[in-house]
Amino acid sequence: MRFANVRGRASLVIDSDEDGGAAVDLERASAGEFPSDPMATFALWDELRKHAASIAGGETQPFAMHDLRAPSPRPAQVFGIGLNFRQHAVETGAEIPDSPLTFTKFASSVNAPFGEIPIGVPTADWEVELVVVVAAGGRNIPESKAWDALAGVCVGQDISDRLLQRATTPPQFSLGKSRRGYAPFGPWLVDVAQLGDRDNLMMHCSVNDEEMQRSSTSDMIFSVSQLVAYLSTIVELLPGDVIYTGTPSGVGGARKPPRFLAAGDVITSTIEGVGSITNRCVSA
Ligand code: ZN
Repeated sequence: MRFANVRGRASLVIDSDEDGGAAVDLERASAGEFPSDPMATFALWDELRKHAASIAGGETQPFAMHDLRAPSPRPAQVFGIGLNFRQHAVETGAEIPDSPLTFTKFASSVNAPFGEIPIGVPTADWEVELVVVVAAGGRNIPESKAWDALAGVCVGQDISDRLLQRATTPPQFSLGKSRRGYAPFGPWLVDVAQLGDRDNLMMHCSVNDEEMQRSSTSDMIFSVSQLVAYLSTIVELLPGDVIYTGTPSGVGGARKPPRFLAAGDVITSTIEGVGSITNRCVSA
């Protein structure tokens, strides 16, 4: 099951190619049993799984990639995990964290999977990430049940203003990662029940067709299960919450010489078996 936000409406993707695809509108195909608002769907995820096969038989509508919005468009909480890949921690000169280095991407930074990213600073950087979205949520979710607490996974870019990230001592990450449009994710959620080897997903990122990052989620320091368990011991995870699970090495700020994003750059981020998102940088 692939869940998408098509022009603001909860939908199931039936078919897709690189330009778009065909989707069934959840509310119409279920005769109102499921809501049209994607945010209202996450608390009903188990029900949706049960009915997905029959809903998928409903009438399909074509969509273009630019019709897709963030699968969770108004999350109550967006978590980011810093330095969660060993080689990325090394390239930034930081120590390997003992517990997940957690920041927030404020929700007003959420962007569509093919949305434009306004670049108004000289130090904007790319970070391809596996993004997971919480289903019903809860507190104190054990590691063994963590994947069951998630609706699905998608591809995200944790765009970061490196200068703002280090503007204070000690550094704070949240504002530097929350400028307008800095949190694109999608193109759709792949239901965790349908993921093959969910702890070994190949991920890569290119800028203007030059490959910058390539790794696998198996290289994470803290696994998705560990992150969900850890966060839920502190905060309540709410339906539709978003977790950016960390980026591998190859970010622009760590290159020699450093390389940052400029208007006209095109970032393509891919997780194999999940999908790709493409974001064009524009002047702010
Ligand atoms: Zn990141």
